[in-house]
Amino acid sequence: AQQRVYVRLSELARTLNTLLDVEKILHAVVEFGLYGFSYERCVALLEDAAGDGAAYRVVAFDGYYDEADSRRIEALVLTGFEPALAPALADPGFVCHSGENGDADGQALGERLQLDEYFVFALPRKVGRPLGFIAAGNTRAQARYQTEVVADGEMRVAFSNLASQTATAINQVRSYRALERERELLDQMVAERTRELSDALDAAHEAVRVKAEFLAKVSHELRTPLNSIVNVPVALLDDYAEIQVFRCAPCDAEFRSDEGPGAETPTCPECGGPLTEELRRVCVGDQDEHFRFLGLLQQQGNHLLSLVEDVLDMSRLEAGRVELNLTEVDVGPLLDEIRVTLASAKQGADRCVNYPELAEPVRLLADRVKLKQILLNLIGNAIKFTGPGGEIRVSVERGTGVRPTVVFTVADDGIGIPEDQVEAIFESFHQVDGSHTRAFGGAGLGLAICRQLTEMHGGRITVASRLHEGSRFYVELP
Ligand code: ADP
Repeated sequence: AQQRVYVRLSELARTLNTLLDVEKILHAVVEFGLYGFSYERCVALLEDAAGDGAAYRVVAFDGYYDEADSRRIEALVLTGFEPALAPALADPGFVCHSGENGDADGQALGERLQLDEYFVFALPRKVGRPLGFIAAGNTRAQARYQTEVVADGEMRVAFSNLASQTATAINQVRSYRALERERELLDQMVAERTRELSDALDAAHEAVRVKAEFLAKVSHELRTPLNSIVNVPVALLDDYAEIQVFRCAPCDAEFRSDEGPGAETPTCPECGGPLTEELRRVCVGDQDEHFRFLGLLQQQGNHLLSLVEDVLDMSRLEAGRVELNLTEVDVGPLLDEIRVTLASAKQGADRCVNYPELAEPVRLLADRVKLKQILLNLIGNAIKFTGPGGEIRVSVERGTGVRPTVVFTVADDGIGIPEDQVEAIFESFHQVDGSHTRAFGGAGLGLAICRQLTEMHGGRITVASRLHEGSRFYVELP
């Protein structure tokens, strides 16, 4: 009989090794209690997640065929501190209650297990409380289950083998699950890193695209003035013709071939001296037209220059090569200087600009040159986008926030900006669509530069605008 038990035990061990689920392992063990050892009832309890021995709950049971019994056993919770279990915690993890030894604790445990005689063995763990308990036994009512509960040496060995095999199987499953969780975590991390890398790649592609777009726009913008600069001189040069003249060396008189003496009369009609022949270039075009062409050349040349300056500024800013030279700036004199600069650059254009009368000096720590550049740009734009008779108002106030700031406002009653483009105008090369705006010239870099310079100061630039009513640009600097 013992040999049969051992053969079945080794079969069970093989089965346990193939199971990848703790519940299934305990079910197999419970089944073995009934069909391998021929006990009437068997129940398996497993530690709670806390694993501190405070609670062991029933995971599998068999032989409790009465519905009330089965409900009771299902709800059974044991603690690892039960006095009756104390011997099961000691090596070899085994307790036997035959019902005859009269132990009150043992009997109380038996009542809860619904067994009159039973074995309990602990599923051993290297350190701490056991992983769980298996109980197997009989009730007196069912006399047909005749396997005795006898704690002899052989049974002890059999049970302690079964206990350690079960514990090993459970540990293996747990390690396997932990490994699986690790792998899932690793998979997640790999997926996350892959996503990050792909985002970085997208950003790099975007940067390349933006750079290409920038170059395309710069070349396009440069081409327009360059076309004038190349083509206008061609038209001007066409207006020059070469004519033949005769010159008298002794009296310095000059005669064109179409007016009087020529090859046929080789002497000077004034002094009779010898005439020599020369080729001369003369302008045969319309002077007003030339004047207009020269004006266009000058205008396009200046446009090209400011474009190149803007592009250089922008690329220096983007490359982080611009540094602020912070000094105490007195706003009053700075505004005077701006007034003079604008008056000399655009004759008459500044007439519609109202500058503030500062009641007391306003001073701030800023880069004077950059601040002037910002304000010139905003006022220049306001002049550009406001028709004749329009009004531009520049004002300077203290900010209303907690942090002390100075707010410069440039307000105009010009063409305004469509609501959907209010943010975009601060991007490089962005100009409000429509030929009426393009007619004003400019490359669309001014505001992008203003924003970068303002933000370098720790400030911000904003705009409020209504189409056809006007715009208000605010620059708030600490
Ligand atoms: P630019 O003036 O050289 O085109 P900016 O960057 O200074 O470039 O301005 C970008 C665009 O924003 C302008 O082309 C214009 O469409 C719009 N804009 C700027 N300032 C004003 C303003 N005061 N009123 C109306 N539109 C403006």
